[in-house]
Amino acid sequence: MSLVDYKGVLVYIEQRDKEIQKVSLELLGKGKEIADKLGEGLSAVIMGNDITGLAQELIYHGAEKVIVVDDKILENFATEPYTKALTAVINQEKPEVVLVGATSIGRDLAPRVSARIHTGLTADCTVLDVEEETRHLLMTRPAFGGNIMATIICPDHRPQMSTVRPGVMVKLDRDTSKEGEIVLLDAGLVASDLNIEILEIVKEDKKKVNIEDATILISAGRGMGSKENMEPLYRLSEELKAEVSGSRAVIDNGWLDKERQVGQTGKTVRPDLYIACGISGAIQHVAGMEESELIIAINKSHDAPIFDVADLGIVGDASKILALVTEEIRKS
Ligand code: FAD
Repeated sequence: MSLVDYKGVLVYIEQRDKEIQKVSLELLGKGKEIADKLGEGLSAVIMGNDITGLAQELIYHGAEKVIVVDDKILENFATEPYTKALTAVINQEKPEVVLVGATSIGRDLAPRVSARIHTGLTADCTVLDVEEETRHLLMTRPAFGGNIMATIICPDHRPQMSTVRPGVMVKLDRDTSKEGEIVLLDAGLVASDLNIEILEIVKEDKKKVNIEDATILISAGRGMGSKENMEPLYRLSEELKAEVSGSRAVIDNGWLDKERQVGQTGKTVRPDLYIACGISGAIQHVAGMEESELIIAINKSHDAPIFDVADLGIVGDASKILALVTEEIRKS
């Protein structure tokens, strides 16, 4: 088969407990943009047990065709049957591009599938684009410990495969007038494909914070001074019903848990409002928050680089300013 026989963009849709994961919808948004540039269609593949009902939702989010592999064996994620099923879908559909979320499941599944179909995989991408002339997918990801951004192409094999970090792409608006094709695929799974036994499923703590989903984030930097000094920040977060996040300096100092770190080696966030308090604006931090809708920065130094990405800057002591803002909100 030659490279030109591969057509279209295929997004792997991750569902957990029959809930479509946000990253998959984000990838449909990006996939649509890539498919349009290539002049091809956008397909989605969803797998699981009793999940056919979810297919329509994917059409509302931009998929023109949804391939469904609905099988009892796929009730819970297990590496072997999922790898076999996705490999079968790719071998049948022959997409030019395959996108998978860089979640714990995606990071397990995508490399195995790429090895089986003898193509390359660029993992953990933060930027995707297409060079229309060559049809190369330009897959950009942090490299050398996050010190450079590398753009990688897969010139000699198809499909071009990439896993993409949650939170970096934008999903399309849900449009219930959209129509598409839903195709059920028999991936030829047999009982022995499930070569592990699941003894117990321990559900993630629902109260666990997910700063990627927060509408408002108040983010602490080293300039807050100490864990104790962060009290005004927590008080404002209560008033605004915001989540608290931080720079790596704050995480390294033990003032916040690692799951709250924003940036290149933390999480990529895109809240409606991001308030950076005592954060200098190092490139590795900015990479994780610059797409926020509105950025307010509080820093005691006039020339802190965070002001370059802020929509509104306040020069002064962060603790004092946070306390004043909280007081004003309580009065109003
Ligand atoms: P600092 O750079 O020390 O800045 C503190 C700021 O607070 C200063 O601008 C200062 O003017 C201001 N300030 C001081 N006192 C006050 C006060 N009373 N009121 C108001 N402002 C005050 N960083 C991340 O955040 N996320 C990452 O994911 C990340 N990944 C990295 C990956 C690599 C490979 C490397 C090399 C670095 C990474 N970093 C990351 C670290 C990054 O380079 C910076 O060191 C870090 O972001 C600095 O954190 P900060 O802004 O809180 O602290």
